[in-house]
Amino acid sequence: MAYNASTPDRFPVDNSLCEACGYPLRGLRPEWNCPECGQPVVASHPRHRPGLAWQQQPSWRNFARTWWRVIRRPRESFRKLAVGSDLWVRDRATRFLSLNALLAALLLSVIILVFSRTYWIAGVLTSGLQVMVTYFVLFTLTGVEVLGVVYFSRRRRWRISRAMASEVAGYASAGWLPASLIWGLGGSLVFRATVATARTGRLLLGIYPLRYLLLFVVFFLGLLCFELLVYIGVRQVRYANSPCPNTPNSPWVVPPGRETPGSQDSET
Ligand SMILES: [Zn+2]
Repeated sequence: MAYNASTPDRFPVDNSLCEACGYPLRGLRPEWNCPECGQPVVASHPRHRPGLAWQQQPSWRNFARTWWRVIRRPRESFRKLAVGSDLWVRDRATRFLSLNALLAALLLSVIILVFSRTYWIAGVLTSGLQVMVTYFVLFTLTGVEVLGVVYFSRRRRWRISRAMASEVAGYASAGWLPASLIWGLGGSLVFRATVATARTGRLLLGIYPLRYLLLFVVFFLGLLCFELLVYIGVRQVRYANSPCPNTPNSPWVVPPGRETPGSQDSET
């Protein structure tokens, strides 16, 4: 109904899927509804993915805007994510991740520095090292997450290539900043509380297991900020349609097991 007849692209094409349920839309008309879930066919048109501000034009302002948007409205943001196997799409996602990892690492070190009140030179040197270590740890965690997403997508027959998994994880890295806030504040509080308790002599036996248990809880809560965003992102792109599905090496094939039941031609 909302279909704009002047849209030049033919839709659906052979490998278009319903973005809500993954039903193959081949042979259906744009003004119809998905036979599986009832969502209008045209709602899965790639024009509904104009891209985030950072995807359109990377700048400090658009970094802040995209970050805020992904944190505030993750579902809507990933619904608008421009997807594709093009190099620039991946490159921008990686740059977004780099900035988030760097800012998160800096934030964590500043919090630790403030809480630990170490000597100036020693503190700053340690902080520099911490920033580097945290930066690489966050990059590694994001990389591991990408492998996990690819693995689960194959098992569940979602159409998420490795490039798309990297893209989702890249923008979900907006969650690393709140994560480091939780790690920094939570970790410092746990140390202070357990050291203070140790000084008074109470709970001395149970102090180390308790400390590590609490630190683990803090680590898990921080990680959850990132994981939740990845989860929401994956759900919004698992059947995403690319604006250019027929480019060479395109991952936009219909996953096995999701072919059209009675194969008809979409030509009118
Ligand atoms: Zn559907």
